[in-house]
Amino acid sequence: MRIVFIGPPGAGKGTQAERLVARYQLAHLSTGEMLRVACEAKTAVGIKADKYMNGGQLVPDELIIEVIRERLGQPDCKIGYLLDGFPRTIAQGEALDSMLDEWHSPLSVVLELHVPEEELLKRLAARGREDDRPEVIRLRLESYRSQTEPLLEYYDAKGLLRRLDGSGTVDDVFSQARAVLDSLVTSGSNRSHR
Ligand code: ADP
Repeated sequence: MRIVFIGPPGAGKGTQAERLVARYQLAHLSTGEMLRVACEAKTAVGIKADKYMNGGQLVPDELIIEVIRERLGQPDCKIGYLLDGFPRTIAQGEALDSMLDEWHSPLSVVLELHVPEEELLKRLAARGREDDRPEVIRLRLESYRSQTEPLLEYYDAKGLLRRLDGSGTVDDVFSQARAVLDSLVTSGSNRSHR
């Protein structure tokens, strides 16, 4: 399976992503994590990304698209993957589509983890990561609303979007996600028998 996982900061996407990749044996491609490692190691990508990340802004599309193109070409992605934090803009979504077209490997599904804004602010305030300072949180939420949310419609128009209600417990959200993915596995195997 090739999955895109979209959700605002504080929705619990990282936690669900960990569980999903373990259960379905997927490569976990977290762009936030990849960029944090690059910053730490002071690679060329990391040095460019650093100032955007600390300011709560998205890094430039060209930069992250190249990181993902390179990553998706690695052998572990052949078994399937979960894209966690990419795409985050329509331009990134379009770039991903053209890569996947080129490789004849379309997405299986796009999962949206939906959490009401009030609940997000509460959760983020309790978390305390370097880029979780209140003014940076506000910017990250704004960039989600203005740049990432349009992707939901983009994928819905392609019939790929499934929404999960992220306001419940970790177990509850995970079982919603399993229901969606298990139904894909079933319909996929039916198709192959035709
Ligand atoms: P969040 O906690 O908001 O989900 P991540 O851990 O996914 O954040 O990412 C941290 C930061 O890395 C983002 O605020 C952004 O600066 C940068 N980043 C991660 N993924 C992308 C992307 N696809 N496009 C642009 N910037 C990204």
